[in-house]
Amino acid sequence: MGRRSRVEFRTVVLPWNGMAVVSRGVRDGLPVFGWRGRPGAVPAGLYTRRQLRAKGLQPGTADPDALLVFRHRVPARTEEVCELWREEIAVPVRAMTPGMWRAHQAAMRARRFCQAHQGYVDHVVRGPRRLCSACFFADANESVGRAA
Ligand SMILES: [Zn+2]
Repeated sequence: MGRRSRVEFRTVVLPWNGMAVVSRGVRDGLPVFGWRGRPGAVPAGLYTRRQLRAKGLQPGTADPDALLVFRHRVPARTEEVCELWREEIAVPVRAMTPGMWRAHQAAMRARRFCQAHQGYVDHVVRGPRRLCSACFFADANESVGRAA
């Protein structure tokens, strides 16, 4: 065969609702589906993590219930495997608590500390040496001056 392997359509019974659906095989004990609108497409009620997030939900279990497998045209990434979760057992995304916001603000403050002039600036510092814009360009001009 060529690069494109043959898809084995197989009927699987979904354990959570007992429905028999056409899948594109089984991988790691999970049914494999393809794009919606194609043979062996994802049945209703299954979503990726991002699709659940767009609805304000997150997976209710650690392990996915099915897989979405599709191919890319880009040669380096020929196959993509996505985990699918059931919407019916998904839970709402947890709201940020005051402690979570404090941790976030502390992390962002650390990203605004310039290592050269040892002070906070109004933007995120750059590079492995963590310099603010003023120090970064001063440093770059200085190294250009040295090189010349
Ligand atoms: Zn600086």
